[in-house]
Amino acid sequence: MRFQVDKDGFYGRFGGAFIPEALENNIAALQEAYQTIIQEESFKEELNSLLQDYVGRPTPLYHAANLSKKYNTNVYLKREDLCHTGAHKINNTIGQILLAKRLGKQKIVAETGAGQHGVATATVCALMGMECIVFMGALDIKRQAPNVARMKMLGAEVRAAESGAKTLKEAVDEALLYWIDNAEDTFYLIGSAVGPHPYPDMVSRFQSVISEEIKKQLKEKEGRENPDYVIACVGGGSNAAGAFYHFLENDDVKLIVAEGGGEGVDNLKTAATSFVGKEGVLHGSKTLFMQDEKGEPLEAYSISAGLDYPGFGPLYAHMKELNRTEFFAILDDEAMQAGLNLCREEGIIPAIESSHALAVLDKRKFNEDDIVVINLSGRGDKDLDNYRSYFEF
Ligand SMILES: *Cc1c(COP(=O)(O)O)cnc(C)c1O
Repeated sequence: MRFQVDKDGFYGRFGGAFIPEALENNIAALQEAYQTIIQEESFKEELNSLLQDYVGRPTPLYHAANLSKKYNTNVYLKREDLCHTGAHKINNTIGQILLAKRLGKQKIVAETGAGQHGVATATVCALMGMECIVFMGALDIKRQAPNVARMKMLGAEVRAAESGAKTLKEAVDEALLYWIDNAEDTFYLIGSAVGPHPYPDMVSRFQSVISEEIKKQLKEKEGRENPDYVIACVGGGSNAAGAFYHFLENDDVKLIVAEGGGEGVDNLKTAATSFVGKEGVLHGSKTLFMQDEKGEPLEAYSISAGLDYPGFGPLYAHMKELNRTEFFAILDDEAMQAGLNLCREEGIIPAIESSHALAVLDKRKFNEDDIVVINLSGRGDKDLDNYRSYFEF
């Protein structure tokens, strides 16, 4: 198993748990408990029932006939945009909150950048009757007013991180400080396949329902369960980890990652970690990330709020090293055009993150008989202002 973590949470050289001493007990307890708990029958039953009736799973695997015709190949869209709350993130937050309950915690703490993970967390906290505290950079609170309002509607407390650049990094720092002080009764709910072990593995497992369904659905539709290609966008790497999970060990299934190229990888106005990232420790795990000479993380840029993260999860650093994946740095303009193309061809408005995955169709040729699955990670309602000002509608 080349792409599963070892007992210390490493994918090859990457991953692990590089954390302050004050967090060691919390993390060790979680490392010890998570595998056992998520394999219990009662846990699986509760999770599956919520995934079905609350999230709306299985999500369709849609044969996009118009796109297929246009690109002269066979394109399927995995419709995570149809999940409750509009994206894949809820697959993970549901899983982690059930785990938190099994561990006897009463409070959830999370951090959020653009607010999408904050909303997915506030949603499941409302559902489970748990207290929810979301740290968010003060600047992000101003920029993302609708998501702040959603979190408040759902009963979460949104706390402003006022230090430094007042964005995601500061929110992470303050959420961690809060967790250190409140470890007894609080669970830290991370929103992507990043952070110290066990989070990258745990989040990937909760998202793996995506590729589990793809296999079943493709078998029904095409008589074979493995596609030739799976394409997904990567911010931290959770939707891609889910879409890739059950194909990771099978080299016949090619995996393609679309990163936020921003305005290009040459001037560093980008979030394309695989092109400009260097090795180091970010958010508690060893991975690649954009950094200055001192190893401090640089600010990433992408038109998509969900992709503008300076690193990615350790699984991707490992896959890059083993050449398991093809990486594309999709420029802002390419993503926006690909998003509009999906609207016009299929009548589906995608999240700008997902538009990056769609843009691969313009960058790379596929054969006529290839089966290409694109993970449509979310819907575009949240991005309407962005699309509007870009296209001047
Ligand atoms: C948050 C988000 C992403 C990026 O996060 P990953 O952890 O890389 O999946 C992608 N698409 C949508 C719709 C998102 O909300």
